[in-house]
Amino acid sequence: MHGRQQNLFEAHAEPEKSELLLLASVALELPLAEPYSYTVPDALLARVVPGVRVRVSVGTRTVSGFVTALEQRPAAGKLKPILEVLDEHPALTPATLQLGLWVAKHYAAHPGEALAALVPAAVRHRRHGREILMAKVLDAAAAKAWIVNAGSTAALAARVRMLRLLLEQGTPMPLQELASRTHSGTGPAQTLARLGLVSLQRTIVAQDPFALLNPKPTTPPQLNADQANVLQELLPALDTRKHSAFLLHGVTGSGKTEVYLRLLERVLQQGRDAILLVPEISLTPQTVERLLSRLPTVAVLHSHLSDGERTEQWERLRSGAARIAVGPRSAIFAPLPNLGLIILDEEHETSFKQQQAPRYHARDVALARGRIENCLVLCGSATPSLESEALVHNSEMTRLSLPRRVMGRPLPQVGLVDMRSERAVGPGGIFSRKLVVAIEETLRNKEQVLLFLNRRGFSTTVVCRMCAWKAMCKDCAIHLTHYKGAARLLCHYCGSESPAPTECPDCRQSTLRFSGFGTEKVAAAAEVLFPKARIVRRDGDALRSRGAPEKLFADLKSGNIDILIGTQVLAKGFDIPGITLVGVISADTALLVPDFRSAERTFQLLCQVAGRAGRGDQPGRVIVQTSMPEHFAITCAAQHDHATFIKRELAARAEHGYPPSGRLLRLVVQAIDPQVAAQAASALGESLRTLPAVVAEAVFVDGPAPCPLPILQGEHRHHLLVRAPTDTLLSELLPLIPRKAVRGARIIFDRDPVAML
Ligand code: ADP
Ligand code: ZN
Ligand code: ZN
Repeated sequence: MHGRQQNLFEAHAEPEKSELLLLASVALELPLAEPYSYTVPDALLARVVPGVRVRVSVGTRTVSGFVTALEQRPAAGKLKPILEVLDEHPALTPATLQLGLWVAKHYAAHPGEALAALVPAAVRHRRHGREILMAKVLDAAAAKAWIVNAGSTAALAARVRMLRLLLEQGTPMPLQELASRTHSGTGPAQTLARLGLVSLQRTIVAQDPFALLNPKPTTPPQLNADQANVLQELLPALDTRKHSAFLLHGVTGSGKTEVYLRLLERVLQQGRDAILLVPEISLTPQTVERLLSRLPTVAVLHSHLSDGERTEQWERLRSGAARIAVGPRSAIFAPLPNLGLIILDEEHETSFKQQQAPRYHARDVALARGRIENCLVLCGSATPSLESEALVHNSEMTRLSLPRRVMGRPLPQVGLVDMRSERAVGPGGIFSRKLVVAIEETLRNKEQVLLFLNRRGFSTTVVCRMCAWKAMCKDCAIHLTHYKGAARLLCHYCGSESPAPTECPDCRQSTLRFSGFGTEKVAAAAEVLFPKARIVRRDGDALRSRGAPEKLFADLKSGNIDILIGTQVLAKGFDIPGITLVGVISADTALLVPDFRSAERTFQLLCQVAGRAGRGDQPGRVIVQTSMPEHFAITCAAQHDHATFIKRELAARAEHGYPPSGRLLRLVVQAIDPQVAAQAASALGESLRTLPAVVAEAVFVDGPAPCPLPILQGEHRHHLLVRAPTDTLLSELLPLIPRKAVRGARIIFDRDPVAML
């Protein structure tokens, strides 16, 4: 270089001016507040771009991280080079990188860890496909000869069946499938492999995630007047290609999904991409089935995917092979290059809030992404959250409504049963006379019943009548739930299990009392009361296995189930025309939770559950059992009166400064040692109270106090609540709060918390 040669001759004059270097800021996947700088070796110049993952060394370790920015700078001090580029294509798009950094800042998370949370682990670790063993016949003639000579002893029968099946099929077959189709274990196949007749090879398979679905092409229905009105607002807003936000308040069965479909079709016509967020996996099969029947290019990002499927779906979205991402909250980070639309269905659902760092809320992230990418955000619900209502009130969102069900179907009639005066029938004091009569009528009409209780298990408390011993989780300080069928006690928080005792472990007497009831006991009582009915119980756990929601949905639709009993997951969006009666076993469970949102949750739950009734030609009805029939959350839900509920609840929140009147930051201090936890919490409280905004009484601090669940997984927990009048003020405050507690304790930052336990 010319300049350098000159310098050689002027060696004794001015000290050499340092050259400009290309430096990369790398957000390491470590708990660090800021990115570190690294040099970019010439060989990697073309591949080091913002959003790509790289490997670098820190001290004596190598760590991966995301390149967040590139900069030409004079080198100051000794900088290490980037060692390796990990992605073939950047894991983050420019927009999702910006979004991830916003998430880190807004929710007080470490940038590298926040960015890592944007990319599925399977994609980050480049896991492609699931490895399985495939069985294949090595030599067909040899195999046939062996079968002829094998004779017919029982020991050989399984091997013969396997060989026959493989020969018949002619192509390799997964070992597990071979075993199950021949009604045997994998042993006979291993033997055949040892005999040299069959090969077993490790193969990576990327399965088709839609294998269990059966979408049929459907013709779109003629829009009704309400839907047309709503779309008259939404479509032009979509066409502007500017950011706007809408709240679609549509009662259950009002045709919201049809509105989503029309928007999705339009955005595809525009050559742009879209994200559809759905709250629960159990909702996805039906939604996906409907989407697939109408739209060609959908990728699903749900939690039942194997690593290979997830990587494949991600790649389809990134490359443009799929243009619509459907999934739970994390799908908001889908790597779509040209986003035009974000839809959150059932926007009030708490599952949109992530409960680990970064503790983001998908609604707020959606609005942030909408601003970054200039796109339309549509939040839909039959029971909008108070947060969204507040956004409408502040003109940050526009309200649209679908006030009626499609085809003139009525909303179900809701009857309240006061359990304080009503006599229960059947075992366990679970069913009121009125509910039993209604179930009998429904069964006689060959219609279906959904019974709902927000508590799993058989008995919810186990206590000794002699010595007062209680079955509690030793790590979580909460009652263990008794599962009678499995004869186990289970902690619903940490999942620890033990055999159910038959006598008191303390005083050794047979004086244990099993009281309270969950869905298992409801099902047992229903079997006694309705012996001829086909009764199925499904809890969240049972629906979490792969294929389970699809199977349940199919069984309901084909009429194989008379009475379905389950927890909250069943309230979420199954569209089953045959369900005409919904029974809420107890509306009190949700109302008694010590949380400022308990009334809102109860109202939403009742409306959603009621929404499952009468979605076909037959009108539906709902029976709600409660011991608080005069509570406004219950009376408003019974009358489908959303407006009154919102008015009363907003007033109650404003009185106490709870969201949406202001914003909350919940700080949870945790430690194994109870004294360390208490001390760290009070130290945090003291430093919070010296913050200028707190001194000036613009922001309020409550606590510290022990959490309602004071011990979880062996950690003692205290919390503090910071109540700020505005989001902006909370953002200003956040960086001033100490992130670290004393040794042995940690502080969890939960902005806009949805769980207060
Ligand atoms: P929501 O999402 O508001 O609960 P859906 O979109 O699931 O409601 O609609 C309920 C049912 O009504 C679905 O079976 C859907 O196919 C049907 N539907 C939607 N819009 C119309 C319409 N305009 N005419 C007739 N049927 C409709
Ligand atoms: Zn005892
Ligand atoms: Zn536990």
